[in-house]
Amino acid sequence: MRILHHGAVNGVTGSCHQLDVNESGAISSYLIDCGLFQGAETAGNASAKQLQIDFDISTIQALVVTHCHIDHVGRIPYLIAAGFDKPIYATEATAALLPLVIEDALKIGVTRDKALIAAFLAKLASLIVPVKYHQWIALPLNLTVKHKQDVSAVKLKFKPAGHILGSAYIEFDLIGKAKHRVVFSGDLGATYAPLLASPRSPYRADTLVIESTYGDKNHQGRKHRSKLLKQLIEKCVADKGVVLIPAFSIGRTQELLYEFEQIIAKNQHNAIWQQIDIIVDSPMAAKFTQKYLEFQALWDSEAKRVVNKGRHPLDFEQLYTIDSHQDHLAVINYLSSRNKPAIVIAASGMCSGGRMMNYLKRFLTEPTADVLFVGYQANGTPGRDIQTYGPKGGYVVLDEERIDIKAGIHTISGYSAHADQTNLVNFVKRMHHKPKHIRIVHGDEDAKLALADKYRQLLPECEVVIGKA
Ligand SMILES: [Zn+2]
Ligand SMILES: [Zn+2]
Repeated sequence: MRILHHGAVNGVTGSCHQLDVNESGAISSYLIDCGLFQGAETAGNASAKQLQIDFDISTIQALVVTHCHIDHVGRIPYLIAAGFDKPIYATEATAALLPLVIEDALKIGVTRDKALIAAFLAKLASLIVPVKYHQWIALPLNLTVKHKQDVSAVKLKFKPAGHILGSAYIEFDLIGKAKHRVVFSGDLGATYAPLLASPRSPYRADTLVIESTYGDKNHQGRKHRSKLLKQLIEKCVADKGVVLIPAFSIGRTQELLYEFEQIIAKNQHNAIWQQIDIIVDSPMAAKFTQKYLEFQALWDSEAKRVVNKGRHPLDFEQLYTIDSHQDHLAVINYLSSRNKPAIVIAASGMCSGGRMMNYLKRFLTEPTADVLFVGYQANGTPGRDIQTYGPKGGYVVLDEERIDIKAGIHTISGYSAHADQTNLVNFVKRMHHKPKHIRIVHGDEDAKLALADKYRQLLPECEVVIGKA
């Protein structure tokens, strides 16, 4: 077998890997994710070239999706446009979320034509195959080509990755004279993240392709980070200013709501927390929150206990959801003139588009406002610029407009939906049969190198390489 990468090798976005069952790639192959490039990783040509499917798809028998983040699924429309007509395997929750994500991506990046979008979504729906976690399924294999290869069957299994709802790492078994197990980590969740249980290591992997987003960092612990969030918000709103939290619509937004509900419930006599408005300004996030509620069976035991106590972690009294664009503009006006603390959660998570842009343009110049980063900011995104230059009194360019940053800028790293270095090391350490080959992807250079060092120390026998396009 061999593994090729069509993204997420020079950074964290554009995830798209190809597993060929034989060395020449001439027979059957599978695509793992098909994501969009973002930020500096578009290398200045965010347009057509980055979206093209510039590799041969004729041998691909199926697409397998680890989770619904746009940098893992955003190129699916282009894949289908390139003629891809094979099954798309995903967990049940991912299968439910995928049409929403793709519809949004089409509306933003491709077309507003309703009939076209409907036709495309119908096509997508016809390809999606929902699969339960922990269940082996046989993948289509092209056996009509005459070949002398060892592989006679390929199976896959999704295991919970604890990253966002529906997220999975994938085990592939290439079965022939010998069995070779290839594990693709997708994005792995951090330990003690709210709502979803952290991932358990696979029993076995012969070859492991693993993300390294935080391969060189360790997160602040859960307790510390909840406390930090509470203190920081209290400090930020002491001047009655607004707190802006850029967040992915799927995952981060729901985790934050969960944390805020918890803080509100535990601080019944705290005036700030009993009065604060928590505004989710994103129709997408609202739809995803609905899916999180539908798939409550996938929540971790702590979250289920909260529900059993009669609380509603994702649907509480002080939570306001903004839908229409008109209401969005009205909220910005209202917040400009109000005298009451408010937290706004909106996409995009890296400030590269979405409704968050209007908030930033309006409030970044205000000393009473604060921006709180809780997620990874890719190199070259406005989010990274605000995070880097904001605390030094710098500026950021949003939609070609220079905006001087007067607002307070803060980062809490613990809320990352990604495993940290210790988690990534433990993922391998806790396997019974350890890999002989590890391929590191999905990270900045420093993160990949640091993680590679850790794995080499842990497994001197293992071949550890950094994935190249
Ligand atoms: Zn992700
Ligand atoms: Zn990712």
